[in-house]
Amino acid sequence: MTTLHLKLRSSLAALVACSALAMLASAPVSAAAPMAKTPAPGFFRIMLGDVEVTAISDGTTDLPVDTLLSNTKKEIVDKELAASYLKSPLETSFNAYVINTGSKLILVDTGAGNLFGPTLGNFVANLKASGYAPEQIDEIYITHMHPDHVGGLAKDGKVVFANATVRADKREADYWLSKANLEKADANSKGFFQGAQASLAPYVAAGRFKPFEGDAELAPGVHSHVGKGHTPGHAEYVIESKGQKLVLIGDLIHVGAVQFAHPSVTIAFDTDTVSAEAERKAEFSRAAKEGYLLAGAHLQFPGIGHVATEGQGYRWIPVNYTQMH
Ligand SMILES: [Zn+2]
Repeated sequence: MTTLHLKLRSSLAALVACSALAMLASAPVSAAAPMAKTPAPGFFRIMLGDVEVTAISDGTTDLPVDTLLSNTKKEIVDKELAASYLKSPLETSFNAYVINTGSKLILVDTGAGNLFGPTLGNFVANLKASGYAPEQIDEIYITHMHPDHVGGLAKDGKVVFANATVRADKREADYWLSKANLEKADANSKGFFQGAQASLAPYVAAGRFKPFEGDAELAPGVHSHVGKGHTPGHAEYVIESKGQKLVLIGDLIHVGAVQFAHPSVTIAFDTDTVSAEAERKAEFSRAAKEGYLLAGAHLQFPGIGHVATEGQGYRWIPVNYTQMH
């Protein structure tokens, strides 16, 4: 060690000591600011060609996915969750999407309103945070009529979206809005029918509920696609602009950490598990092959990304963060 090195070392040590003293002198007696403990506003926005797509969070809720998932074993579910540093009960996202085509403002699903517990029902607050008001929504496309997708439509028996027309597959409407089906439903599922009927009622009464049948063109560049299995008339919505494509897949998948790698795994909420599994596999296969974007109502917010084939299943690739410059 040379003299120069020693000199440098001692002057560096002196400098460190000095700045440590300075920090001590300027530090307040109590440095702790209260923790904010609030998330970022629940919206995320991308462009898809000329179309603006905004993911809106309705909130999250903890789901006991180890008992809800079926066509698998609890050990496999626990292992896949652990591989993603997760465990059951799993904090699960509830997402809705706002599509601005330039001529129409379209909402896909509405969140749970007050039908699914206190941690959900944040849709309207997050929509406003994203720069839109509920009155600006022209059309609402419903993927299916489970309470966490339609609960946000109405509040205290009145419409939340004053100028919107609501659209859903006719088979979905015929099933959930039927008084006869409500009456014959068992005690556990009556609430699902009641929730759907209360949420749709003010729009039906105002003549602003217009069901469609199967695959239908709903707006320029936007069409529905039958995604059956989860419910009798579960619909996906396909958005296309300038060669880019996004498919809003609703509840085709619930637990990304398990079902991408194992697309044959189903969930207790599926009405027809065989069709749900087939539809999920077909959609993932197309999306991986063609390279288009998917968005899922229960994939971790914002729930938008690509899939790639991996082993016997798929890998989820979340969309890159963008500040839209
Ligand atoms: Zn759902």
